Amino acid sequence: MNKERVAELVRELLLEIGEDPDREGLRKTPERVTQSLEFLTSGYCTNVNELVNKAVFESQSNNMIILRDVEVYSLCEHHMLPFFGRCHIGYIARKKVLGMSKLARIVDCYSRRLQIQERLTAEVAREIMMVTQAEGVGVIMECRHLCTMMRGVEKQNALMTTSSVLGSFHNDDATRAEFLNLVGRRVA
Ligand code: ZN
Repeated sequence: MNKERVAELVRELLLEIGEDPDREGLRKTPERVTQSLEFLTSGYCTNVNELVNKAVFESQSNNMIILRDVEVYSLCEHHMLPFFGRCHIGYIARKKVLGMSKLARIVDCYSRRLQIQERLTAEVAREIMMVTQAEGVGVIMECRHLCTMMRGVEKQNALMTTSSVLGSFHNDDATRAEFLNLVGRRVA
C-alpha cells in the first residue's frame, strides 16, 4: 500500500464531501485514516500458513472442539463500512489440533479484508479444514452491519447469522446437532 498516495486520496475525499482538510481537527486525518485502513485490510498480507504452522499439534482425540464467542470485526465490501459480532467454531480433529489462539487469528486474517459475511464464514471454515485436515468443521457467525444500521433500511437491531459446515458437520445430522447444541443454538 502506497501510504502517501492513500493519504492524498483521503484528503481529496474530505474536499469532495465539503470539508476543509486544513482545519485543526482534520489536519492529521488523512494519515490516521491511512494507518487504520492499513490495519483493517492487513489480512491481504497475512500468510495463513506461516500463522498457524507452528501451532498445529498431534492429538489422538477425536472429540469435538468448540471455541465460542470469537470477536469479529470486518468491513463490508459494498460500502466499506464495518460489520462486527462474534463467531463460534467447532471441529472434530483427526490427528491434528490447532492452538485456540490460532483459530482466532484465522478469523482475524480473513476478516481484515473487504468482505461479505457469507464468504468470510466459508473462508474461515475452509481454512480450518485445510490446516487441521479435520473430520468436520462448523462455523457460525452473528454480525451487525453498520451499512444497514446507519443508512439504507436503518434496521438497528438486525443480526445476521451465517453458517458454514464441512465434512461430517455437513453429512452427519447428529454431529451437526451436537455442534449447534454446544454453541447454544436450537436445532432447526
Ligand atoms: Zn454494506
